[in-house]
Amino acid sequence: QLALFWHRRDLRISDNAGLYKALKSGLKVQAIFIFDSQILAHLSKNDQRVLFIHQTIQNLQQAYQKLGASLWIFHGNPTEIIPQLVQKHEIKHVFCNRDYEPNALKRDKSVYDALTKIGCQFSGSKDHVIFEKEEIVKSDGNPYHVFTPYMKRWKEQLNDFYLQPYPVEKYIHNLNPNNHVELPTLSELGFSEIQTQHFPSAEIPQTIIQSYENTRDFPAINGTTRLSIHLRFGTISIRELAKQALKTNEKYFNELIWRDFYQMILFFYPRTIEETFRKEYGRIEWEFDEKLFQAWCDGKTGYPLVDAGMRELNETGHMHNRVRMVVASFFCKHLFHDWKLGERYFAEKLLDFELASNVGGWQWAAGCGVDAAPYFRIFNPTTQQERFDPQFEYIKKWVPEFGTSDYPQPIVEHKWARERTLENYKKVLKAE
Ligand code: FAD
Repeated sequence: QLALFWHRRDLRISDNAGLYKALKSGLKVQAIFIFDSQILAHLSKNDQRVLFIHQTIQNLQQAYQKLGASLWIFHGNPTEIIPQLVQKHEIKHVFCNRDYEPNALKRDKSVYDALTKIGCQFSGSKDHVIFEKEEIVKSDGNPYHVFTPYMKRWKEQLNDFYLQPYPVEKYIHNLNPNNHVELPTLSELGFSEIQTQHFPSAEIPQTIIQSYENTRDFPAINGTTRLSIHLRFGTISIRELAKQALKTNEKYFNELIWRDFYQMILFFYPRTIEETFRKEYGRIEWEFDEKLFQAWCDGKTGYPLVDAGMRELNETGHMHNRVRMVVASFFCKHLFHDWKLGERYFAEKLLDFELASNVGGWQWAAGCGVDAAPYFRIFNPTTQQERFDPQFEYIKKWVPEFGTSDYPQPIVEHKWARERTLENYKKVLKAE
């Protein structure tokens, strides 16, 4: 008797909660992965995340082969493919790990409905976060909107159990021993084979974590772990990382709690992917100027820290967190453009794009989200540069023409822009 384990954002075998539960069920387990045609349809042909997934799936397939098993790989719509597989192979149970994004929840509900009709069970496990959904809520049962009390509760609730690895190896003999299935090539999937970006390593950099609070804010330094892409696709286990961080550095550990926090907010408030968490800010009448928007996208605003960040993003698919805060603030508060447009640009470009953290980060910068920067706190991009890239090292790396006549003049004047934003925000809050 056969079960399926459906890999999604958990592209690893070890310490995989859902896979462990599937193997422990006593059924023989066949692992599958589906290149979801509906998701792929919206991506550019050059999308480097597809390349990352493709490489990762190839490695995963080899790992299963070494265990005498295989990974079945499909391309299409999971809500059709899974019920078809279930009928064809008389599958009793489909296992997976939970995904809290609205589209994923909708997809999983359709799969659940289809499987229920044909008498197959469908179950999800918590694997992407340490605490999910309503596991950390206020004493009245409502979700936290402020990070610090959330973090406090989160830490109180943490014990060894939550960081323990799932010993998949113990039941690995329950993998379905069988035949190899070909991995479609990237061009068969409709994507380019050309790699333009270098993917960060999945190894946990102990030395960076150790001195994290001294290095994390300086974009010229290799001072953050660059593990975000691996957390996004589950190529490392959050439990393993959190366990190491807990031993090593509290500041770093707290960043991982921000990640849980935003996943929880997305779960409770899926509307925030389209609208501001604080409803009064929904009345802001943002401006839009194609030229200004394009200058921001291209890193040609005349503010060197903003420009360096945008060029780093365009060239590598990554941007340092300090600089993400600065460019997002500049977009909303200097250009007075709708945070959603900036959020979408990041979503297209970031290798580590994670809907919950991206929306959270953008609404924080716009001052309209949960526990956001207050609207009147407007980053001065020049002061930020003086504090965090005082020697212009990061700037010179990404904006080589900085300091020459080729470098553009500021597209917007800081003081004027600041006043405009304060006025507009005040107007909206007064109308409240
Ligand atoms: P490190 O500093 O080494 O941090 C370790 C891990 O902690 C990160 O990998 C990440 O998983 C988590 N983390 C750190 N800071 C945050 C945070 N503020 N919120 C949530 N999780 C955090 N992060 C994403 O993973 N995906 C996004 O799409 C994303 N969009 C952002 C948009 C804006 C406007 C801002 C201000 C921040 C955004 N972040 C996002 C958060 C943060 O910038 C990145 O997680 C971080 O830069 C990734 O680099 P790192 O792995 O070296 O981080």
